[in-house]
Amino acid sequence: MKIIWKVVYISSLIWDVFYPEKCMLCGKILEGRESGVCRVCVNKMPYISGDRCIKCSKKTDGLDNVCVDCASHRHIYRQGYALFGYDGNMERIIADIKYKGKWRNIEWLAKELAYHASLYIKKWQAQLIVPVPLHKSKLRKRGFNQAGLVAGIIADEYGITYDDRLILRRRRTKPQKKLDDNERKNNLKNAFYVDRLRYGKYKHLKTIIVVDDIYTSGSTVDECAAELIRAGVENVYFLSLCVGNGYS
Ligand SMILES: [Zn+2]
Ligand SMILES: [Zn+2]
Repeated sequence: MKIIWKVVYISSLIWDVFYPEKCMLCGKILEGRESGVCRVCVNKMPYISGDRCIKCSKKTDGLDNVCVDCASHRHIYRQGYALFGYDGNMERIIADIKYKGKWRNIEWLAKELAYHASLYIKKWQAQLIVPVPLHKSKLRKRGFNQAGLVAGIIADEYGITYDDRLILRRRRTKPQKKLDDNERKNNLKNAFYVDRLRYGKYKHLKTIIVVDDIYTSGSTVDECAAELIRAGVENVYFLSLCVGNGYS
């Protein structure tokens, strides 16, 4: 992880002494071995359990290997894993992180994702992890890319190289979740590009994981995957904190 985030983490440990960590759902001060959420609220977290789509990881009815979305839409990425469904609780947690400055909540979510996705991450054998990029104007305004924080923590846990400047956003796009599925595709056309100069040093790497916070129809990951493949990458996988409803 970049040195700047190490400094931020050390500062946050000192901060903890004065402002102890609170449950990100109910606000109770966490105690003992609790982390992220308290022991009551952990049961309210929308972990995806049971049968899941072998392509995108959405919950399925167990009758088919793939969800209805993946049965009707070909994806460019190879496979992906998400930890949570996108319910009201997740919506609030993500909004708190993005708009209320509670970015430290990312750490527990990312570590949970890293832990639960371990079989996938080991199987994929990716040599590089990249986040879905924010447009630079948004990054300046928010100060951080939440997908970048998740990706950085996972990269650290597994000793995989992390790069948040390989794939970049060419122009601002509308929030995907506010659009219908056709609009989502058009919204992202040519939105991303790979920094070819930077890619030069990764030419020997063939497998990359793209990280996002919310996966819906998969258009964002597919657009990133298309650009990476155009640059020379062979396999693109994704990890996401949560999955919302896409085509279905
Ligand atoms: Zn709680
Ligand atoms: Zn699927």
